Amino acid sequence: MTWAATVLTIFPEMFPGPLGLSLAGKALAEGRWALATLDIRTFATGKHRSVDDTPAGGGAGMVMRADIAAAAIDAARASVPADTPTIYLSPRGKPLTQARVRELAGGPGIILLCGRFEGVDQRVLDARNVAEVSIGDFVLSGGELAAQVLIDACVRLLPGVAGNEVSLAEESFASGLLEYPHYTRPKEWEGRAIPDVLLSGDHEKIAKWRREQAEKITKERRPDLWERLKRR
Ligand code: SAH
Repeated sequence: MTWAATVLTIFPEMFPGPLGLSLAGKALAEGRWALATLDIRTFATGKHRSVDDTPAGGGAGMVMRADIAAAAIDAARASVPADTPTIYLSPRGKPLTQARVRELAGGPGIILLCGRFEGVDQRVLDARNVAEVSIGDFVLSGGELAAQVLIDACVRLLPGVAGNEVSLAEESFASGLLEYPHYTRPKEWEGRAIPDVLLSGDHEKIAKWRREQAEKITKERRPDLWERLKRR
């Protein structure tokens, strides 16, 4: 079975967007993953095909209706394996981590609900058992970019997509550390030299240096990650 992303959105024309280029785009063209979009608006029944309404209890903005979002979710679920998780991209969601990305990439795919306006009616999230995932502590104007972030992170882990599996094993978060710094030619640039050890040809010493750099950078920049690593 091909890993498949199904995106529920009122802006299907935003897809594939950046996912149609580079690594993800090439893999999409090669059939290594599949992308489907469902236009939520096609599930709206009213004369004006509106998908949102004013918030109960008052306040600014509009809320996506539960009945319409549910119809879109049900339609999406009908055409994918039953164990495909449904995720609502939301600033209130569980922060996305590389571990979660790995788990999702290892499954059959994902159904992603993209919010707009103030968000979606809570009842659809409860009734359809939808998980909430956030891509960071900031607020976007819609879930589409967040969906693209999540899909991109998953797709690059699929077999045959990244090509160089070794680089996946060493990159940031793979071992719980941030990655060591990279250098390439020229050997000297604006008076800055490539660290000698990297030119020594001594693979053991290079590995040791990279490990030390990764630890130093993690300690400095992400004490939270460093603490978690020490506790493991
Ligand atoms: N009123 C909401 C924000 C709505 S933003 C609140 O305060 O929580 C509109 C939509 O953008 C959301 O429904 C969600 O789908 C998406 N979105 C915004 N920020 C996001 C984030 N950090 N991660 C994932 N999705 C986000």
